[in-house]
Amino acid sequence: MRLHLNAKNLTDRSFGLLTAIGPTDKRSNAKIVWICRCQCGNSVEVVSSSLTSGKTKSCGCLREELRGIHNKMKTHCPKEHPYNEENTYTHPDGRRECRICQRASSTRYRDAYRDKCREHGRKWNRRNRPKCNAILARYRAQKRDQTPELNLDEQQLVSEYYYFAQQLGSNWHVDHVIPVAKGGLHHPDNLQIITAEDNLKKSDLLDYIPEIRIKLSRGQRSL
Ligand SMILES: [Zn+2]
Ligand SMILES: [Zn+2]
Repeated sequence: MRLHLNAKNLTDRSFGLLTAIGPTDKRSNAKIVWICRCQCGNSVEVVSSSLTSGKTKSCGCLREELRGIHNKMKTHCPKEHPYNEENTYTHPDGRRECRICQRASSTRYRDAYRDKCREHGRKWNRRNRPKCNAILARYRAQKRDQTPELNLDEQQLVSEYYYFAQQLGSNWHVDHVIPVAKGGLHHPDNLQIITAEDNLKKSDLLDYIPEIRIKLSRGQRSL
């Protein structure tokens, strides 16, 4: 077909991976739709303004490729933990790892070298005393603000949670179902006892369901 006099002739011009072959009869908002060949071999119809403005640079393969690159930036976890940005831990050397697995392995490391790590932690605390106190104070204040008025039964139950977890051993933690950091209350209804492993996986996730959880109810004195 013939081009309108003031329509730009884009024939043989390149736009990214696309080369304009010729105009079609189609119009989009009065703009000519061009048939283009992409370097990947596909043909696509693109409206002239999208070509000249640089909005469209390929048949879509470029976008796919970029998505591929982007996805490579995300974690791949052999244990099938979430494949997303949030769960991608990037090491200082650029290596990427599943955040959950990374945390788990650093916990295993801490368990294996408990004394060494404890000593390291103590040294860090001594060097960063004000920062350390500030973190602790903030957590305590938050917990205090989020501790509702507890009656005697409830106070008793809170202590039982901590006592019970202690009896079970160091692998068991008293956990806030809704984390204090997310506005959860320091109230027995919001407490549970879970394993250290679950606690680690849970982190601040609101919808994580622990594999094992122990709830104590009022008046209960044993499992
Ligand atoms: Zn293409
Ligand atoms: Zn993982």
